[in-house]
Amino acid sequence: MAKAILLSKHDGAPRAEVRELSAQEFPPAEVRLRVEYSSLNYKDALAIVKGEPIVRQWPMVPGIDGVGVVEESSHPDLKAGQRVVLNGWGVGERHWGCLAQYAGAKADWLVPLPASLDARDAMALGTAGYTAMLCVLKLEKHGVKPSDGEVLVTGAAGGVGSIATTLLARRGFSVVASTGRTGEAPYLEKLGASRVIDRKELSERGKPLEKEKWAAVVDSVGSNTLANACASTRYGGVVAACGLAQGMDLAMTVAPFILRSVTLAGVDSVIAPLAVRRTAWQYLADEIDRELLRVISHEVGLQEAIAVAPKLLAGEVRGRTVVDVN
Ligand code: NDP
Repeated sequence: MAKAILLSKHDGAPRAEVRELSAQEFPPAEVRLRVEYSSLNYKDALAIVKGEPIVRQWPMVPGIDGVGVVEESSHPDLKAGQRVVLNGWGVGERHWGCLAQYAGAKADWLVPLPASLDARDAMALGTAGYTAMLCVLKLEKHGVKPSDGEVLVTGAAGGVGSIATTLLARRGFSVVASTGRTGEAPYLEKLGASRVIDRKELSERGKPLEKEKWAAVVDSVGSNTLANACASTRYGGVVAACGLAQGMDLAMTVAPFILRSVTLAGVDSVIAPLAVRRTAWQYLADEIDRELLRVISHEVGLQEAIAVAPKLLAGEVRGRTVVDVN
């Protein structure tokens, strides 16, 4: 038997509950993992609270990421006992996810966990941390260097934002953290932000071009925030866009692109190729400060994760929520 959060639909409304499921109730899979930790990402919170459009099939076990040990594998490259990370690929959306003691996966989806990273730390990072690293790598691929000037991180007290702040600071960038929770300034400074700004400065519809401020941006917020971030990026700067916490809309002009040569670079974590994932996880293992990960993350159980989900959507959860599924 295995405990899992099970999402089901009752009279059109989603219901989330912790259930004991038999092994036979889990869908068959090429690889079966004994999950150690999962985490609560924005998408998981949406799945638990709202169901659709994240949940594509009912009933569903949510959890877009997890770390665990291979228990059974019909793939020659993956052996029982290997510790792996699973995230993306529609897990927790189309395929049963990791907010459970068991998870099934295709072998091609799994990244061996770098030996220097322990299981809990892997989920303190989770999809948010791995996406933050993809954003940092995207900026650097476009040639951004610490000497170019300040880098703006939006949604800074959230999961992606917290990890992006600490990763960029560690790589020598001067990070400006934008947050709605200015009371979290000491936390963000501890992560390495050189200064903190109120997200109100970016939330409302602004002008096509603003004063040039940022050498680069990591944006997990979208909407007006992303538009304003582009409008205030310096000539030749790069904006890595990965999220939509403010909204999916994007009302702006082409002015930053055609007059300032700004690059808007999209970042996807879900179907990123395996080689990119391995690189990102290895960099995370090499660079993330384990002490700061303790500051960034807190731990809950499966039942509590259901209660935390609406708070996360309301922007009330700081940093990362690790879920101990056992
Ligand atoms: P969190 O909820 O942890 O963080 C989001 C943060 O955004 C909040 O903490 C808050 O930060 C800020 N925020 C919330 N609401 C608003 C608002 N109305 N206006 C402005 N800012 C707001 O989520 P995650 O960090 O896990 O994810 C962030 C985003 O990135 C989500 O949209 C998620 O779907 C997306 N994402 C995308 C991925 C991809 O593959 N492209 C992968 C992972 C995440 P503060 O209080 O500091 O202002």
